[in-house]
Amino acid sequence: MLPLYEAFIKRFPTPESLASAEEEEVLAHWKGLGYYSRARNLRKAAIFLVQNYNGSFPKDLDSVLKLPGIGNYTARAVLSIAYDLPLAVLDGNVKRVLSRYYGYRENILSTKADSELQKKADGFLNKEHPGDHNQAMMELGATICLPDSPKCLLCPLMDSCFARIHQLTAEIPLREKEKKQIQLSAEILVFLDKENILLVREPKMRFLKEMFHLPYGFIGQIPAEAYEPTPFFLSLKNIVIHPKPIGQFKHTITHHKMDFSVLTHQIKGVKEVEDLAKKFDVESKWVNFSSLDTEFPSSLASKVKKFLLYLEP
Ligand code: SF4
Repeated sequence: MLPLYEAFIKRFPTPESLASAEEEEVLAHWKGLGYYSRARNLRKAAIFLVQNYNGSFPKDLDSVLKLPGIGNYTARAVLSIAYDLPLAVLDGNVKRVLSRYYGYRENILSTKADSELQKKADGFLNKEHPGDHNQAMMELGATICLPDSPKCLLCPLMDSCFARIHQLTAEIPLREKEKKQIQLSAEILVFLDKENILLVREPKMRFLKEMFHLPYGFIGQIPAEAYEPTPFFLSLKNIVIHPKPIGQFKHTITHHKMDFSVLTHQIKGVKEVEDLAKKFDVESKWVNFSSLDTEFPSSLASKVKKFLLYLEP
């Protein structure tokens, strides 16, 4: 890579020379240096510098962040190394070092971790030698504090590193890809027979399939087949003539955000419901209203129960 880099710098030694070159020529000189978008952005940044800063490089973070192709990491690296500005860098390697050193247990791929670890990086920075410090931290992460087998015995931070002291280098950092939030709307059907309430266990359900629960199904826009209402739920809805909406609430399961509507149905006989359950291989039982929380041990039950308390007999 170095001879290519040197040839590039020889042809474009100043922002002015890069800014005045045609994009095709810049791309031709970039060949072998990786992502072409970087070459395009570099040329755009050079044009911006020539037009706005007389070809010099600004010395404050906000101005540098406005340059095309420059993000927080690059801006901090350039400003600390070139101008000795006290700005700590945070790349993947530095995140690993800092999370181990401080015993930071949050998911380092989250946006929350970005800001929390940036604060730790700022606090840890050697402000007299920020450029050297940043390069040392990146190097430490790349060569010593390795993801799978960190070489703690060679590490200058070993005496006060939380993960080393507590033997947690395998657990820290935590890296979990954040799942996309899924928005769902659902109905809970409350069947009441005097003091009793219907619970079912449906092996085909996406959630709660292991336990007896209030019959529910997703409605409206269904994001994937796995959330389709079951034939049992649809048939249950069909036997109801005048459902009474008694409340709505929000509920979250993992990355699923759900809006639940609760509908009640006072029925005269239980046989129709039981026959339907048998037809679709669904287990059903009637439990006393007072034992709903123990028979259906989920926070969903207590959310529904609140509405039921105010039902007229
Ligand atoms: Fe990483 Fe080990 Fe150094 Fe801690 S002591 S920063 S775990 S290499």
